[in-house]
Amino acid sequence: MHIKENIEKLRYDIDEVCNEIGTNPDTIKIIAVTKNVNIENIREAITCGMSNLGENRVQEFLNKFPIICDNNVKWHLIGHLQTNKVKHVVGSVCLIQSVDSIKLTQEIDKKARELNIIQDILVEVKTSFEETKFGISIDSLNKVLDEISGLSNIKVKGLMTIAPKVDNEDEARPYFKIAYDLFDRLKSVNQSNIKMEYLSMGMSGDYKAAIKEGSNMIRIGTAIFGERKNKELHCE
Ligand SMILES: *Cc1c(COP(=O)(O)O)cnc(C)c1O
Repeated sequence: MHIKENIEKLRYDIDEVCNEIGTNPDTIKIIAVTKNVNIENIREAITCGMSNLGENRVQEFLNKFPIICDNNVKWHLIGHLQTNKVKHVVGSVCLIQSVDSIKLTQEIDKKARELNIIQDILVEVKTSFEETKFGISIDSLNKVLDEISGLSNIKVKGLMTIAPKVDNEDEARPYFKIAYDLFDRLKSVNQSNIKMEYLSMGMSGDYKAAIKEGSNMIRIGTAIFGERKNKELHCE
């Protein structure tokens, strides 16, 4: 594996897209997705400046969290979260990106209140009609945000979305645009615990398209760590 070279190439490519669209590359946050990646390789990525790590499964996060104990490293939960596992991640991850139901927001709020903290979250929105995808439908988004306004121990920092798999990443742009338009519209929402700051969209195969549509947080696994084994198992 050539993690250092991969990260250099990734940064170069991000710079190039940003130049093209007139965006400052420093405004794009990279989340290094470490699912199926061993500790040694994660450490190498950290050495190369990756300070935000993303896991999509709670158990894998719990295995790694105590080992990677570096105060400069922040963890993100990016995969579907079951309500019975909320207690394991609240307070340990800086951002739960995959919040996709009212029930989940309530559970996170409850646990955060017990810990006397405020947990930052992103609301995952479904921008395509694929049945298998998690995420809140566009139609229910306002209702969910209304519910959240009554929860004082969570703070919504933005939206997350996963585009459907397409052959050419430009085909994903309409889905990213939908998410951007929602994000942009919600910036004017006047609720103390909702502040649209992050739009998390774009993975190894489509981050360029996502940046072109206004993403400021990309979640990158393969382009940093190489192809995963068991890819189909862990990529819902
Ligand atoms: C695995 C995963 C990623 C990263 O995928 P790559 O294609 O390897 O970059 C991003 N987001 C989520 C939610 C994931 O599960």
